[in-house]
Amino acid sequence: MKSTMMQVPLSTNMILERAGTYFGERQVLGRLPDKRYASRSYAEVYRRARQLAQALREELAVPRNEAVATLCWNHAWHLECYFGIPAAGAVLHTLNLRLSPAEIAYIVDDAGDRVVIVDDVLLPLWEKVRPLLRASNPRLVVVPYAGGMALPDGALGYESLIDRDASAYAYPVQDENEPVGMCYTSGTTGQPKGVVYSHRSMVLHAAVGCVPDLFDLSARDRVLLVTPMFHANAWAVPFSALMAGADQIMPGPHLGGEDLLDLMEHAQPTLALGVPTIWMMIHQALEAPTRERRLPKGMRMLVGGAAVPTSMIANFARHDMHIVQGWGMTETSPLGSVPVVKPETLELPLSQQHERRAMQGIATPLVEMRIADETGAPQPWDGQSSGEVQVRGPWVTGDYHGVPRDPAKFTADGWLRTGDVGTIDADGYMRIVDRSKDLIKSGGEWISSVDLENLVMNHPDVAEAAVIAIAHPKWGERPLVVAVRRAGAEVDSAGLREFLRPKLARFALPDDFEWVDAIPRTSTGKFLKTRLRELYRDRVSASPD
Ligand code: AMP
Repeated sequence: MKSTMMQVPLSTNMILERAGTYFGERQVLGRLPDKRYASRSYAEVYRRARQLAQALREELAVPRNEAVATLCWNHAWHLECYFGIPAAGAVLHTLNLRLSPAEIAYIVDDAGDRVVIVDDVLLPLWEKVRPLLRASNPRLVVVPYAGGMALPDGALGYESLIDRDASAYAYPVQDENEPVGMCYTSGTTGQPKGVVYSHRSMVLHAAVGCVPDLFDLSARDRVLLVTPMFHANAWAVPFSALMAGADQIMPGPHLGGEDLLDLMEHAQPTLALGVPTIWMMIHQALEAPTRERRLPKGMRMLVGGAAVPTSMIANFARHDMHIVQGWGMTETSPLGSVPVVKPETLELPLSQQHERRAMQGIATPLVEMRIADETGAPQPWDGQSSGEVQVRGPWVTGDYHGVPRDPAKFTADGWLRTGDVGTIDADGYMRIVDRSKDLIKSGGEWISSVDLENLVMNHPDVAEAAVIAIAHPKWGERPLVVAVRRAGAEVDSAGLREFLRPKLARFALPDDFEWVDAIPRTSTGKFLKTRLRELYRDRVSASPD
């Protein structure tokens, strides 16, 4: 027997069409650079995304499956790019505006971006990136986010570019396995690597993002996207939200605690997403209010990117705000696991319910998860034995863009090695207990310990240096540089910091230094980071908030 089902290729254009057909009245509410509110309906987003698609194809002649980059905050124009770029048959490439200009330039070159769509308020950053480009020469399109700014020479204005009738625009016919978007991840060493999503992976991920037991997304939701649209596509929630027909709320660059509380009060979101750092800041602002606030009752929060402490879940529950934790990676689109609440959980005392919600949870539908030791042997699901978390699924990357397959990242039987170390209990709930990748996550951004060590050791007065993560109340983790001076040398922490400043993105510049006589080593001569982590376990970073 053969299946009688139609062979319809999956495409993000289906999500755009659905929104345009059924949810035209839904709104994207955003904040402009001067903090004024501005809204745009899905009907407008639909029309304008198609106009952008037509312009990219006809006016800028962007070839099929080539990348078009965005350097933008979260706002309605960016949402149009999310759908308009794929609708042109091109690949949405979101650039992380927090990286250093040299890193952004590397990434633009590596992706071969044909066009870069930049917020007018981010032109000063782009001007620093452009002279560092070596391989690519993208056409510049400027979004009038603040409005009223002069266009740089040779640049096109977004509004005049898309000012056209695209009512008859026909999407290019596509195979569902063709690329739809790409994001870069920072590895332990070396340059960032590109993960390329397909139409198929994005649509399946968006559909599963609408399963109620994840974060209960529906057409009745108003979703606040605090997570930047350049971080794993804001966890790909814009795709699910358009599919479900939920309103979206975009904070733009106004990401401080008070600003976000103002936005929540004004827009009354029912669901919000962001990394723990953001929520810690909001909790502080909530606990020491400058005035009484009318906050959304019963708001759900999807929190991920780093572990969510049990105390945070309990603290927000007292404000009738309910945290759902998500675990995932850029490589996993990113939905990997969620601590789904079963009826049995609701019978537990509240404190135990919060502990369960603080676990990283069970694999999302269509994703498989296991833990394995260093030899690759599967570890038992007893809640005690730990091992590397490995995943497989239709939206998990099987490779990186343009680099030879890295056996350190994939198992012989084709699972992704996440570099996270976890336990899984008898019910299948995973808990992250450690990280085998030598990386530091500071406020949602990665810092490579190994790259930082190499930079520090480039200082002529430093004999050797090791970098580990230490705790910080706001940023989660910050780098601690443990360094040894060369004999007779006099460099101090301030001098070393100044030496590093021009070479690093602002968030990666260390504030904590420890000068020692020698760094503990393993028998094979490698830095013994486990010993350093023990030594500085209680050290709290002095980085400013
Ligand atoms: P990224 O690719 O930047 O999204 O980072 C993915 C990594 O962030 C994962 O491999 C974890 O190390 C970490 N991460 C993401 N979500 C969580 C979570 N809920 N709990 C603990 N770590 C997390």
